Amino acid sequence: MKYISTRGQAPVLSFEEAMLTGLARDGGLYLPESIPQMSDAEIRALEGVSYEEAAFRVMRPFIGDAFSDDEFRGIIARAYAGFGHAARAPLKQLDSGHFLLELFHGPTLAFKDFAMQLIGQMFEVSLGRSGKRVCIVGATSGDTGSAAIEAFRGLDAVDVIILYPHGRVSEVQRRQMTTPNEANVHALAIDGHFDDAQARVKDMFNDFEFRDGVRLAGVNSINWARVLAQVVYYFTSAVSLGAPDRKVSFTVPTGNFGDVFAGYIARRMGLPIDRLVVATNQNDILHRCLSTGAYRPDGVAPSISPSMDIQVSSNFERALFYAYGQDGAAVAQVMDELKAGGFSVSQGALEALRESFDSGRCDEDETRAAIRRTLDASGELLCPHSAVAVHVANQQRRAGVPMITLATAHPAKFPAAVEAASGLRAPLPARMADLYERSERVTRVGNDLNDIETLIKERINH
Ligand SMILES: *Cc1c(COP(=O)(O)O)cnc(C)c1O
Repeated sequence: MKYISTRGQAPVLSFEEAMLTGLARDGGLYLPESIPQMSDAEIRALEGVSYEEAAFRVMRPFIGDAFSDDEFRGIIARAYAGFGHAARAPLKQLDSGHFLLELFHGPTLAFKDFAMQLIGQMFEVSLGRSGKRVCIVGATSGDTGSAAIEAFRGLDAVDVIILYPHGRVSEVQRRQMTTPNEANVHALAIDGHFDDAQARVKDMFNDFEFRDGVRLAGVNSINWARVLAQVVYYFTSAVSLGAPDRKVSFTVPTGNFGDVFAGYIARRMGLPIDRLVVATNQNDILHRCLSTGAYRPDGVAPSISPSMDIQVSSNFERALFYAYGQDGAAVAQVMDELKAGGFSVSQGALEALRESFDSGRCDEDETRAAIRRTLDASGELLCPHSAVAVHVANQQRRAGVPMITLATAHPAKFPAAVEAASGLRAPLPARMADLYERSERVTRVGNDLNDIETLIKERINH
């Protein structure tokens, strides 16, 4: 299996190379040259197997010869062993025809653990084989960083450096990043928004001297291996509701477009998904783009669902690549226009996007109301991100097609917002109950590429 860049100008890579590289050298994102298909019989056969076995069957065709079958089974087993639920991604019923896919039973209580734990184990096997060392740099609005640190802490061949926007992550998110005391963990609080942190990480990848000097590797949601890990739970949840013999729809709380894009891949592999609904909070650039065709960032307004507070949605580029008929030059051009302020999707591409995705938006009051109403109606306490999606799903549900709404974080990860909306304080699971007592370690940095690169070089030469 070969991987190509969305901008068409970077070297074609193997799965392992694409995983270790992250961002392509032409600024694009890697995608498989072709998408493996799963037949109805193969999908049906996922019924009743363990999450790990389903993960093996869904992902195996994408990884080529990167890992032997035994290695890959071991990677998957270790990745999900630390989850607090035997089903890994259990499905709960909210209402008739409406289901909640709980993706928050991993070690940092957010769905990012599904991908990050897997990537951590893949890196360990791959680097262990080559004897190389890498420096993982990531930007986070909170959940990616904690998941990355949890996945890579203490590994021999990896330094993990996470940039998060100072003062704009929840206390639980911050503590999950600043309390691990392993020497290979470096939490940096940057002055600015998530988009600033993400832009500096992109700058580092485009600074080839720095990139090669420190052997930079990326694990942000642009990393193909992360998208791939998230494809699995679309299959397991749909199959448990009767796929492939019955269609299902999904509503996905969306920021960087990685999670919902994994659903798009599942559909292209053959899973009969009726509709894929992109749910945004008040930072609704994706909803506006899908509605009007215009993608024009106009600043971020901090919300109670901070992991979706973005304007530059990096994985959207992958959707654009398919919408533009896999024309890398066209993607490169709209991305250049984005740098200059924004772009308009061509009519043909907009039609293709709308065929693949529906969208909706949920403002702050609606988010709080969704938390309250869902608690009253079903006893489920939602995190604000999941509440955004439940609100949008309720608007878009259609009779006869089950709706699966992705619950992307545990309510205890956002206790202040959840309590303000519901009056209830969600307790942390027992396995992390001492989080508030552990001591923190973090370095504050300005929003300046040179300063950040200098700091990283000092740190990794410890
Ligand atoms: C990252 C995150 C999202 C957004 O997912 P994307 O793949 O970036 O679209 C939604 N909810 C939570 C809790 C997250 O951590």
